[in-house]
Amino acid sequence: MTPGVEARYRALRSAIDEELHKGGRDPAGVTLVGVGKRQPPEIVAQAIEAGLTDLGESYLQEARRKFALLPAVRKHFIGHVQTNKAKAIAAAFDVVQSVDRAEAGIALGRAAQERGSALPVLLQLNVTPSDRFGCRPDQAERLAETLRGQPGLRLEGVMAMGPLGAERDAILRAFELAAKTLARIGGSTLSIGMSGDWREALQAGSTMLRIGEALFGPRIDGRHT
Ligand SMILES: *Cc1c(COP(=O)(O)O)cnc(C)c1O
Repeated sequence: MTPGVEARYRALRSAIDEELHKGGRDPAGVTLVGVGKRQPPEIVAQAIEAGLTDLGESYLQEARRKFALLPAVRKHFIGHVQTNKAKAIAAAFDVVQSVDRAEAGIALGRAAQERGSALPVLLQLNVTPSDRFGCRPDQAERLAETLRGQPGLRLEGVMAMGPLGAERDAILRAFELAAKTLARIGGSTLSIGMSGDWREALQAGSTMLRIGEALFGPRIDGRHT
C-alpha cells in the first residue's frame, strides 16, 4: 500500500487547474486520465475513490484482471491494438485511444457493431521519431475518413505521445503538430500530455492528459502480461 495517492490526486488536479487558469482556460475542458498500467489495483482504487473518473490501460489481460477489482470508472485503452484482440478490447473498454491504422479501426468497428453500440475512438498520431506506433500526420486524413466510414466507431479526436526526455521546444513542436493535425481532420479531443510533459501539452491545447507515475507513483518492474 502506498499511502497518499488521494493527496497526490488532489495536488495534481489542482496543479492542472492552476495551469489552465493561467492560460485562461476552463478546467472543465480537460479530462485527467490516470494510467494504471503496472500499478496495483488497490492504489488505482484509492484514486478512483478520491475522484478520478477516467482510467487508461495498455495491456488487455492486466486491465481485465484489474477492472474486476475496481469501482466504476471510464475505461480507456491506450495500448497497441492487435486486430485479433479487437473483440475483447471493445468488450472491456469504453474508449479506444490508440487506433493507428485502418485494419485496427475496421476490426474494432465490427466488434462494436456486433455489440450494438458505437465505440468512441481517437486516432493515434506519430509526432515523434522515437515513437514506434501511430499514424503519420500526412496519412491522418485518409485514416480519419476510413474510421468515419465505420458505423461501429465514433471518431472523437487524436492521441499522441511527445518525445520522451526531449527539450521543451521539441516537445512543444510535436504537440503543436498533433494540435494542427486535429484541426485538419476535425474532432474535439486532443489527448496529449503525460507525467513529464503535461504542462507543455496544456500549452498546446490538450483536452485530455494521460498520467501514470506522477499520480500513482513508480510502476512495478517486470514483464506485463
Ligand atoms: C504509460 C503511458 C502513459 C503514462 O505515462 P507516465 O509517464 O507514467 O505518465 C500515457 N500514455 C501512454 C500511451 C502510455 O503508454
